[in-house]
Amino acid sequence: MSQITLEGVRAYGHHIDGERVDGPPLERRDPARNKIVATCAAGGRAEVDTAANAAAVAFASPVWRRIPAQGRAELLETLAGLLERDADRLAALDSQEVGKPLRFARGDIALGIGHVRHAAALARTQKGDSYTGLAPGYTVLATREPVGVVGLITPWNFPALITLQKLPYAIAAGCTVIVKPSEFTCSSSLEIAALCEEAGLPPGVVNVVTGTGPDAGEPLVTHPLVAYVSFTGSTRVGQAVMAAASTSLTRLGLELGGKTANVVFADADLDAAADAVVFGAFANQGESCVAGSRLIVEAAIAEEFTATVVARAGALRVGMPDDPRSDIGALIHHEHRAKVHAAVLAGTAAGGEVLSGGRAPDSPELMEGAFYEPTVIGSVGPGSPVFTTEIFGPVLSVTSFGSPQQALALANGTPYGLAHSVWTSNLDRAFEMGRGLEAGTVWVNTTSDGSPALSFGGVKQSGFGREGGEEGLREFTEYKTLQFRGEPRPSPFRARGDDSTGEDQA
Ligand code: NDP
Repeated sequence: MSQITLEGVRAYGHHIDGERVDGPPLERRDPARNKIVATCAAGGRAEVDTAANAAAVAFASPVWRRIPAQGRAELLETLAGLLERDADRLAALDSQEVGKPLRFARGDIALGIGHVRHAAALARTQKGDSYTGLAPGYTVLATREPVGVVGLITPWNFPALITLQKLPYAIAAGCTVIVKPSEFTCSSSLEIAALCEEAGLPPGVVNVVTGTGPDAGEPLVTHPLVAYVSFTGSTRVGQAVMAAASTSLTRLGLELGGKTANVVFADADLDAAADAVVFGAFANQGESCVAGSRLIVEAAIAEEFTATVVARAGALRVGMPDDPRSDIGALIHHEHRAKVHAAVLAGTAAGGEVLSGGRAPDSPELMEGAFYEPTVIGSVGPGSPVFTTEIFGPVLSVTSFGSPQQALALANGTPYGLAHSVWTSNLDRAFEMGRGLEAGTVWVNTTSDGSPALSFGGVKQSGFGREGGEEGLREFTEYKTLQFRGEPRPSPFRARGDDSTGEDQA
């Protein structure tokens, strides 16, 4: 891959019905250099209304209706090719706006393209059920219909990837779409929408309205033409989205926060486990819903294993996102860095001990940026806020356990249930822990794995609904039965005798 240099300040409008629609500019600063790099339009209820009408017209139009699932698969495959063509640019946009190292942004785009190709494959093989044995002459087709116009609200940590975990499945299902990206990271979603039309998707099928969450997100959730909203973001905002959706009864999929535990038993491959704990905790600056922010380690090996983790965390290189040597880039903005630091202080106030990091790096070239050192906090108890609260930064807490039952109770001891890892060479124990861990994903002797084929989502306050894979496509559909009678249906009224009350036909 070649490295693209992004020059100047990009200026975007909304993308509605295939047209650019301008609005007052919202500035985005590159969090690593603190310089304005892009503006997107500040939209609100009016722009959401225009986009919802465009998406509803596109949904009802014979042009879209007459493209069968096979045709939608072909459009998605064309889109995948265009995304491959522009992968370097999309990676550069996300790297710059999120602050993440370019090499990881490239991985995000590659995975996103995998989702587009997988959604195309699912579109090709979409099928329903038929029932022919329920009654004489009675045939039922059970089909999955597109739910209609859908809203996709995305966070800032994986802007292109999360758009591509949702959008192609909505298209495969036959829906039309309005994307509301985070105000901090609009560029890649807007450029992906333009690629959708270059791929041949009719105008109005993919729209993007930009703006803040309260101004542009909330009206999308409650708009009467929007049938379903797939939301990824914090549990706090997810709760607000659910409250707003209760007025319009909009169907929801909620992909919310997490507090992943890495449970490490003494019999594990400790070298592999230490690498995975460090990667799980600090990849994407810890700004990941599945960040392995809690190490829960068997007491017998806790001291030695923690020392290994601290050494490997200390060896990570914090640096500019476009420097190929960087492991960790900048946090999303300076206010977020202040929140991360406050969380570390709350952890030490609750009895934790900072074993490494706990501050901004002092290198002069990083002074302007929202950088924070990978931080390990030891001696963390289950009541500490760093143990229970999603920090969404490069902070790992360490807690030790004595028995498998205690490990399970600790891992499950937060309101979240997105993903957990277990490290052991004992198959029975792996199975028992895997069954007992409350999460949508459990990794055994691995972390952060996944595939477009595997549907992903949470339990408890990590939300509900699934993204990716067959379940992810199903989210964008409604189950419908089409019931045929090949011969007249016997009328219960006709069968009634003079002395019958009719109650038995109720
Ligand atoms: P937020 O919850 O702050 O925002 C998510 C999206 O919702 C943004 O587009 C935001 O817009 C929008 N929004 C904000 N307020 C409202 C509202 N009232 N109505 C509708 N939309 C609104 O999350 P972050 O962007 O800070 O992302 C981090 C969070 O996302 C973490 O908690 C993380 O765990 C979670 N996440 C979950 C994943 C999962 O799959 N479970 C994956 C990735 C992240 P704006 O930013 O413009 O205000």
